[in-house]
Amino acid sequence: MASEFLTSADRLDACPRDDVAEVAFAGRSNAGKSSTLNRLTGRRQLARVSKTPGRTQLINFFTVNEGGRLVDLPGYGYARAAKSRQQAWGEAVDQYLNRRSNLVGLVLVMDARHPLKPFDRDMIDWSAARSLPLLTLLNKADKLKRGERTKVRRSVEAEVPPGTRTLLFSAVTGMGAFEAIAAVRERLGGPLAQP
Ligand code: GDP
Repeated sequence: MASEFLTSADRLDACPRDDVAEVAFAGRSNAGKSSTLNRLTGRRQLARVSKTPGRTQLINFFTVNEGGRLVDLPGYGYARAAKSRQQAWGEAVDQYLNRRSNLVGLVLVMDARHPLKPFDRDMIDWSAARSLPLLTLLNKADKLKRGERTKVRRSVEAEVPPGTRTLLFSAVTGMGAFEAIAAVRERLGGPLAQP
């Protein structure tokens, strides 16, 4: 999926104003969200922009040449215990997830060794409540043995809503990348959700 950085937004009304379909990527910090975006777009440095100082809390948009956009949501994980998850993660993300009519699908990147943390469960519940198609990527699967991979995939599949795709994935080796790209492309080619 050849892609280019388009723009960053710090609030909902700074997001591009058009009807281009968007698939958003969410994940806990260090789950490998940037590496995943790089792998899926074939660009080793694509998501580096999202990590540059000043941009880590922004919503970053990438145009896919074949059509549609990939949206890199800020990594979640620096929340302080005293703050609610939502407050800490940011108002802009909350607005994007709840009000952005361009949003047609969500990709949740998890570390296959530590899946389904509270943040992940929140995202899964939220996408189910919004009936937004969800793809869960069990990243870093290269770090697991064969038997462990099957076990983690089954245990995650048993806990996500029906219709959710769950893939063993590795941003490093490319495991699952073909299937993930196909799933994202399929969403980007689909119709926009009703606002
Ligand atoms: P982000 O914070 O979610 O954007 O995570 P990064 O993409 O920066 O990755 C965090 C760390 O995990 C880096 O050291 C990556 O090299 C490593 N990493 C990411 N994906 C994989 C993977 O599939 N396999 C392995 N072994 N390491 C990975």
